[in-house]
Amino acid sequence: MQDNAQKYAGAPVHELVIIGAGAAGLWAAAAAAKRGVQVLVLEKTPRSGTKILASGGTRCNLTTTLDATSAAALFGNKAARFLRSAFDNLPPASVREHFAGLGVSTVEAPLEKIFPGSQNAKDVRDALLSDALEAGITIAYDSPVTGVVKACAVAPGATRWCLSVRGPETIAAHGVPGCGGEKVDDDSGFIFADHVFICSGGTSVPDSGTTGDGYEWLEKLELTITPPVPALAALTSPDSWVHELSGISLDPCNVRLLDAKGKRLGERMRPVLFTHKGLSGPGAMDLSGHVARGLQEDSTTRFMVKLDLVPELAPDELRDILVEGAGRSGRPALGALLPVSLPRRLLAAVANAAGLSEDVIKRGAMPQLSKSARHQFVEALKALPVRIDGTGGFDQAEVTRGGLSLKHVNPRTMEVNGQGGLYVFGEMLDLDGPIGGLNFQAAFATAQLASESLGA
Ligand SMILES: Cc1cc2nc3c(=O)[nH]c(=O)nc-3n(C[C@H](O)[C@H](O)[C@H](O)COP(=O)(O)OP(=O)(O)OC[C@H]3O[C@@H](n4cnc5c(N)ncnc54)[C@H](O)[C@@H]3O)c2cc1C
Repeated sequence: MQDNAQKYAGAPVHELVIIGAGAAGLWAAAAAAKRGVQVLVLEKTPRSGTKILASGGTRCNLTTTLDATSAAALFGNKAARFLRSAFDNLPPASVREHFAGLGVSTVEAPLEKIFPGSQNAKDVRDALLSDALEAGITIAYDSPVTGVVKACAVAPGATRWCLSVRGPETIAAHGVPGCGGEKVDDDSGFIFADHVFICSGGTSVPDSGTTGDGYEWLEKLELTITPPVPALAALTSPDSWVHELSGISLDPCNVRLLDAKGKRLGERMRPVLFTHKGLSGPGAMDLSGHVARGLQEDSTTRFMVKLDLVPELAPDELRDILVEGAGRSGRPALGALLPVSLPRRLLAAVANAAGLSEDVIKRGAMPQLSKSARHQFVEALKALPVRIDGTGGFDQAEVTRGGLSLKHVNPRTMEVNGQGGLYVFGEMLDLDGPIGGLNFQAAFATAQLASESLGA
């Protein structure tokens, strides 16, 4: 240790090192550099903004039309309280303005979404990267950080933070001063920094580079990590009739998720798609975090989704329609009476769930249903039960639920309490929002606050 103290005595200390050149890291880098801070970004992979490029079906739903309060509310009470300062400081409308200033016009889309006018995610990534580079940042690719510790753990007396980075030669090749230095093992080197921003993302889509590396560093600092589980993934169902409806989509649809005891865990009015494994689409994906968390706590637990196929009508109104149709001359087909067009295959599944013969649907003409049969049919239309036994997992999850417990982070600065100079934001934090540009909004807004707390 004493040797180290001498060895590193003259080592350069970076003003700010940002770990991860994703959505949050790129935004933070530009914002900090524009405030006069010297910024070095270390990125594990050979490119920046990988998830931005993949987002929104490569169109990038970069924020929402909602105002700051409504957008934050979608993260749930605790996270909404945490995000209040960040979203008030950088509301969704300001994200749009920011991109307009970078030459990326934006357009509104259904379900409160905002996309770049070009419908091309690459324009969003390129704009963020160019902005940061023009502001004077240095970025080193292929430079995975392998540890973040208090500098005194490496060199007694040293202040602030020390990062171990694999591939210091690569970093030196990027022209980063003071990074070609000492080797700590076969292929790692140390970098010292006054301030460290950890925005290395979660564990969703690990092939893209996000393998939850940051959790371990934070745990070593005795900080609480809420165990990560996949969120915004498709739901799987053991029901073969569900798989047979693959390709049918419902829009609108009200989706209610219940636990094994029938307790309501969440509800979304969003489109749903039947798949050969279960349910997908925003309505199902938005609820997947609850399923994953429940399974992580008890792998044997099961869930039920109830689909309201006709959300615009109350049960009584539906019953009236059926009664009126049955009395009409020439008795129209059942499906034709409903205000939404439901494929015959799906109607047959509804009849099945109501305990009626599928022939009721196949016969075409509106059947003479008994009062109780009509009641059951309406019940099945309003709450078609689908058993759920899992999610698509991290490989297809758009975000991670879990991460650094919010109790450790100052919501006005993103600085970790009691760890001066260390900031955590973006998907590393224990918060996640539904589909609709909310997660980029959170990444950008938390990044902006962290950057604003540095520099003049
Ligand atoms: C397929 C898909 C589609 C999505 N679509 C949308 C959408 O349309 N709208 C929306 O709001 N959200 C969307 N999301 C979610 C959104 O992409 C994330 O919420 C957001 O990217 C989080 O930003 P971040 O900067 O915190 O993390 P990331 O963007 O994941 O960035 C983390 C960066 O850190 C790097 N890194 C990781 N470990 C290390 C290490 N040890 N050393 C150095 N660097 C490291 C990673 O390589 C990565 O570049 C989507 C996600 C996916 C997967």
